[in-house]
Amino acid sequence: MNITRIISRSLRIIAVAGALALLFSCGGAGGSTGQTYTAGTYTATAPGYNGDVTVAVKLSKNRIAGVRVMKHNETPGISDLAITGIPKAIVDGQTLAVDTVSGATFSSKAVIAAVTAALKEGGADIEKLMVPGALKDKEADVSLSADVVIIGAGGAGMAAGVSAHQNGATVIILEKMPKVGGNTISAGGAMNAVDEGSETALKNKDSVALHFKQTYEGGDKKGDEALVKTLVENAWPAIAWLQSMGMKFLPEPFTVTGGLWPRAHKPVDPVGTGFFKTYNAYIDANKGIEVVLNTRAEKLIIENGRVTGVQARGQTGNIVTVKAAKGVIIATGGFGQNVAMRQEYNKAWPTLDESVKSTNHPGATGDGILMAKDVNAALVQMENIQLLPLGDPVTGSLSGNIETDVEKRIFVNIEGKRFVDEGARRDTMTLALFKQPQAKLWIIVDAHSYPQGTVKNNFNETIDDLVAAGRAFKGETLEELAKAIGVPPENLVATVAEFNKHVASKTPDQFGRTLFSEPLDKGPFYAGARIPTVHHTMGGIKIDVDTHVIDVNGKIIPGLYAAGEVTGGIHGTNRLGGNALADITVFGRIAGTNAAMGK
Ligand code: ADP
Repeated sequence: MNITRIISRSLRIIAVAGALALLFSCGGAGGSTGQTYTAGTYTATAPGYNGDVTVAVKLSKNRIAGVRVMKHNETPGISDLAITGIPKAIVDGQTLAVDTVSGATFSSKAVIAAVTAALKEGGADIEKLMVPGALKDKEADVSLSADVVIIGAGGAGMAAGVSAHQNGATVIILEKMPKVGGNTISAGGAMNAVDEGSETALKNKDSVALHFKQTYEGGDKKGDEALVKTLVENAWPAIAWLQSMGMKFLPEPFTVTGGLWPRAHKPVDPVGTGFFKTYNAYIDANKGIEVVLNTRAEKLIIENGRVTGVQARGQTGNIVTVKAAKGVIIATGGFGQNVAMRQEYNKAWPTLDESVKSTNHPGATGDGILMAKDVNAALVQMENIQLLPLGDPVTGSLSGNIETDVEKRIFVNIEGKRFVDEGARRDTMTLALFKQPQAKLWIIVDAHSYPQGTVKNNFNETIDDLVAAGRAFKGETLEELAKAIGVPPENLVATVAEFNKHVASKTPDQFGRTLFSEPLDKGPFYAGARIPTVHHTMGGIKIDVDTHVIDVNGKIIPGLYAAGEVTGGIHGTNRLGGNALADITVFGRIAGTNAAMGK
C-alpha cells in the first residue's frame, strides 16, 4: 500500500475537487487497448441526481486520451469523488468497468453513462470496454504509529484529530471509505448552540438552560444528565473553535425540523461540507496529522488491559497495524445501514427491515460498536433509533426536499389531510406518518413560504429544478396542485383553509401546533413526497463526560475513547434536530484533547 499517496489524495479531495472537474483526466502512456476510435472530442449528457451531467471525452486513434466533466449540478462534497475520480479511473484503466463511488452512486452512474454515450459517438466497442481490468495484487502488510489513532473520518473523528493535534499529539485517522465525511458531510448542517447572553439569544429568549431542558425532556429524560450538560455548555465554544479555523456560519439561527427552537446555526457551505473544508485545511497546513483512506479498522489491540492500537485492513486485503502511544478514539458513526442490527435492537417502530430506507451513507454499519463490545465495553440505549419523516421516496436520503422553515409548511397525507403538528418531535411526526396510508406525506408550501426560483435547498436545488426533475409538483391553485399529486382537491382546499385560520389567530390547532408564520394562500403552490427514513442511531458505546469508554462493570477501559454517533445515552429516546453536529463536535474535541493529554 502506498500510504503517502492515499493520504495526500485524501487531504486534497475537497479543496481541489471543483478545480479538477474542469481539467481533463489524462491517461499515462499505457499499452494498446485493442480499440479503434475516430479521433476527436465528443460530448454527451446523462441525468444525474440533480439534473444533467455533461462530459467531454477526448479520443485518439487507440486510446481514451481524456475525460472531463464539463457541467453538473451534483451536491458539492458528496459527489466530488464521482466527478473527479470516475473520469480518472476510466482513463487510467481504459475501461468503462469502473466502480461507482459509495455514497455518490447516482452521480457516478451519470458520469459513466455520459462517457459511454460519448464513446459510442467516437466509434468505441462498448461491450469490450465493459470488461473489468485484472484485480489488484495484494499489497504488503504495513505498520504505522502515532500518539493518537482515530477510527473514522466523519465529523467526530476529524474534530478529535484536529483537537488532539492542537494539543501536541501526532495523529492518524483511519477511514474505511474512499473519502472523508461519513454521515456528517451530507447532514443538514444545522448545529444547535446558544451564545449565552448574546443579542441573538436574548431576542430568541434562548439560554443554555433552555437548550438543556429541551434536549433532556425532548429525549423523555432518558439521556445522561451529565453528558447533556457537557453537550449544551460546550456547543457554543465548539462553534467559536470552528470559526477560529475559518468556518463560516449564517448570522441568524433558525428552527430546524424537530429542533424545537431557533438555535440551529447553518454553515455557509452546503450540507456538512463546511466542516470538512475547515478540517482539511487544518490537516493540509500541518505536519503530524494524517488521514488514511480505504482502510477498515477491524479490531482493537489490547496489551496488559490497555488499548494500544488498532488492527485494520487495506483495500487489497493487506493488514495495517497502527500503534497508539497515547490512545485510540472510536468515531465510526452509527448503524443506520446495518439492517440486522436495526432489527435486533428496534422496539419502537413497526419494522426497521430493508423496506425502510435510510438517510445514512453506506459505511454506517456499526463497526465501532462491535469492536468496542469485543473488549467488554458497555452499550447503552441501543433501542433508541431515530427516524425522520423526510426521506426521499426513492433513496431515503434528505435530498430533493422542499426545505423551508418549520413554521412555513404543512404535511398532508395522500388523502390531502394533515395528521400531525409539523413542529413536533421527530419521533412523534414519524410515528404519525407510519399510521398514514402508504406511510407517505406531501410537504405543501406556497409562493410566500418558498419563493420560486431563488431559494436553493441544501442540495443546491431550486424548487424549479425539483419540479423539472419530477421530484416536486406545482399548481397555480391548490386544486391544480391536488390534481397533479392525485389528492382529492376538496380535501386539500379544506385542510389549507383550516390551517390558515390558525395562522391568523395564532391559536394552537387540533394537533397542538403553535409554530406559525404566514398563511398558505399565494399561488403557485408546491408539493413534494416524503417517507419515513432511518436517520440516527442514538444508542451505542457508554462514555463518561471525558469520553472514556466504560466497560460492562462500570470501569474505564484504559487508552480507549469514543465520540459521536457511535456513543449512546446522550439524546435519550429522541434527538433534537440540530443536536447531532453539536454532539459530534463537542465530544470529538473532548476526546481528542483528553487522548492527547493522556487524561
Ligand atoms: P459521526 O457523525 O459520529 O462523526 P460519521 O458517520 O460522520 O459519524 O463518520 C463516521 C466515519 O467512520 C465514516 O466516515 C465511516 O466510513 C467511518 N468508519 C466506520 N467504520 C469504520 C471502520 N471499521 N474503519 C474505519 N472507518 C470506519
